[in-house]
Amino acid sequence: MKTIDQKTAAPPLNSLEVLEKSLTLPSPLIPFCPSWHGAESVSMWVKRDDMIHPVISGNKWRKLAYALRSNKIAEVISFGGGFSNHLHALGFVCYTLNIKFTAIIRGDYSAAPTPMICDLVRWNTQIDYVNRLTYQKRNDEHYLAALQIKHPHATIIPEGGSQHAALLGVQELVHEITTPFDVIMAPVASGATLAGITSALSEKQTAIGIGVLKGQGYLESLVSQFLPHQMDNWTINHNYHCGGYAKVPATLATFCEEFIQTMPFKIEPVYSGKVFWALKNMLNEGFFAPGTKIVIVHTGGLQGARKN
Ligand SMILES: *Cc1c(COP(=O)(O)O)cnc(C)c1O
Repeated sequence: MKTIDQKTAAPPLNSLEVLEKSLTLPSPLIPFCPSWHGAESVSMWVKRDDMIHPVISGNKWRKLAYALRSNKIAEVISFGGGFSNHLHALGFVCYTLNIKFTAIIRGDYSAAPTPMICDLVRWNTQIDYVNRLTYQKRNDEHYLAALQIKHPHATIIPEGGSQHAALLGVQELVHEITTPFDVIMAPVASGATLAGITSALSEKQTAIGIGVLKGQGYLESLVSQFLPHQMDNWTINHNYHCGGYAKVPATLATFCEEFIQTMPFKIEPVYSGKVFWALKNMLNEGFFAPGTKIVIVHTGGLQGARKN
């Protein structure tokens, strides 16, 4: 008598290969010519990592790519806030690839889940709300060891997807740029994106990170910890965090609204908005030498600004 093997009867899983084929890579590099004071004396391009995928956008794909490619993953655990672009991207990847996913979220949103969390629920994510004290342990060795014992088959990915393997994926974005440039700009939160960019630059090219949270000294230490050796081709500008992470004063909100109305692509106030706001002000101050060729990395993250 024949028996039906449930496993072979199941539909074929969507493979990483299929997923990768659906991505817009290399991401487009588009000329950027705003009518801002000072813009006429430099050349600018935007590296549109926000276009990589409608859901898995921006630097979160770059940071996850190598982790996904190098391991056969059956289960993933990761961390983030209620609006996390990282959890959103990872949640969608896990759903598509049929990987069990547990999201450990800072704060209890069970009474009022954010649009990001609603998406995770739709994608079969196991949601685990923790208080701030527990969340603070997210990089603690003992806490992680206990978590691993509870989930022996899980791959634990740090907050933001920021781990050493993330740099390899970020480096690809720099290698995709075939137009010569002098300076590349990107937002900085956990530092892995800037570290990846910095480690892929050629001689004489420099990177400017825009700190999106209050963290002079702290953000530099985060970036340095990811770098294989000390490098002096990068700096972080701390003048444009606008009061702290996800803080949106009226000037920034207005800037973003006007930007969206007049430019060919969208930005949001947490990351890309602060970078373009910084750029506009730096151009106005004559920060860049005439003729400087500047690439601005659009790291995506538009889902975080959704109202519903
Ligand atoms: C997470 C995120 C960043 C921050 O990148 P880090 O590698 O943590 O510094 C920047 N932009 C967007 C859109 C993000 O989602």
